[in-house]
Amino acid sequence: MPALNNSCCNSNAATARQEPGAVSKHIDIALRNIARKCRKHPVEVTFRMNAFEAANHYIRRASRIMNLGPRVERLLLSLEAEHHVTIPIERDNGELAVFSGYRFQHNSARGPTKGGLRFHPTLDADDVRALATLMTWKTAVVNVPFGGAKGGIACEPSLLSQGELERITRKFVERISQEIGPQRDIPAPDVNTNAQVMAWIMDQYSRLHGFAPAVVTGKPVELHGSEGREAATGYGVICVAEDFLHDIGNSLKGATVAIQGFGNVGLFAALLAHERGAKIEAVSDLSGAIAARDSLDIPALVKFIRSGCLLVDYQADGVSRITNDALLTREVDVLIPAALGGVLTRDVAREVRAKVIVEAANAPTLPEADEVLEQRGVTVIPDILANAGGVTVSYFEWTQNLQCLRWTENEVNSRLRQIMSTAYATIRGLVQSRKLGWRTAAYIVALGRVAKAAMLRGV
Ligand code: NAD
Repeated sequence: MPALNNSCCNSNAATARQEPGAVSKHIDIALRNIARKCRKHPVEVTFRMNAFEAANHYIRRASRIMNLGPRVERLLLSLEAEHHVTIPIERDNGELAVFSGYRFQHNSARGPTKGGLRFHPTLDADDVRALATLMTWKTAVVNVPFGGAKGGIACEPSLLSQGELERITRKFVERISQEIGPQRDIPAPDVNTNAQVMAWIMDQYSRLHGFAPAVVTGKPVELHGSEGREAATGYGVICVAEDFLHDIGNSLKGATVAIQGFGNVGLFAALLAHERGAKIEAVSDLSGAIAARDSLDIPALVKFIRSGCLLVDYQADGVSRITNDALLTREVDVLIPAALGGVLTRDVAREVRAKVIVEAANAPTLPEADEVLEQRGVTVIPDILANAGGVTVSYFEWTQNLQCLRWTENEVNSRLRQIMSTAYATIRGLVQSRKLGWRTAAYIVALGRVAKAAMLRGV
């Protein structure tokens, strides 16, 4: 457990006994007093935290700066439900295989829970807890009417046939079909899941409960998906990067960028940054990283990757292979980690030379690295703001499904731009007026909204 610095985290018995309205008012007052209270960090970093402890570290820090009290803090740290299921399927060779599946719901105070499904061999319960928690704060930061959830299956999709993947997905939906639903919990894509997987989920759920496209987002556009959803997370990342660079008197045009991960999020972030005139100097995928001194030819790379190739096989004049650490520590204006969590360790953070890190991945920065970056003056735009574009357009998709409407791509993108800029400006306001780090400011905004909703509804 993280060690506590008692100066800012007294168990405030008065707060613990407060009535809902009083707590709500208390949060407003706390926000006004943050500058004074946050001079000392209330929670110290302890090393080797697992993913869930790392996520909770930020909640405790914000909660203690806001002086929410132990009662509210305990509520915000707890998950509402953890559904852990086994998924037996018949392999193509006739053998039986059994996989572990998870759907964890963190907090539904602000609405039905929402969050992606990840298919990855190392996925475990702590990862899912951490990611479910992050979703609660993310939906609150962009102020969409959802809570947070996450799920997935511990499997390696590249070792499964398309038929096996479909059987696993359908069996998983069967197992959790009572726990999800348009007004209950709405899955979406995450690492190694895509629009096809979402289509199977919609179909399987609809077979069991009647036609219900709003049960899942990130569906193909031909099957009640939303225009703009596929690019939405990358689009949001670039909106935030653009707003930040604008604030410091720069722009994406001519800015140098390095991106770790070239899947759904990294690829669209690269494409959109390229379209805005940025120089993408380095990108990577799980096969390795490549770099070019001037700029990589992003449209050519996108075509290459979409043809099913890996970056390690890409060859072009002026393009060289580099290590993943060399990508993360490259001297660029903007570093975008868009792969997995925990890649920015304390050692890497000491060597980072980017001006700003825009966290497209979930939890790419370990808490100990976060402290190093803060001390070194490297701005980190946190995941719960930077990659919230995906859940925002998921909200648009859900809204369209419930109303049987169809919005154009322009409508989706302009609404997304507005929501991202509003969230960015709200957090920037706290950063500037209260001299806070971006992550702390984002958590304070999110915790304030969730705690208020929870208190108004009643525990
Ligand atoms: P994806 O599966 O489409 O792509 C992941 C990419 O990361 C691939 O290019 C893969 O090769 C690469 N990768 C994997 N391991 C790597 C490693 N060790 N080094 C370098 N690259 C590696 O997944 P995605 O949907 O793009 O998600 C990426 C990140 O963004 C995840 O952290 C996810 O949780 C987060 N995220 C995704 C969405 C979304 O809408 N898809 C929304 C919010 C956050």
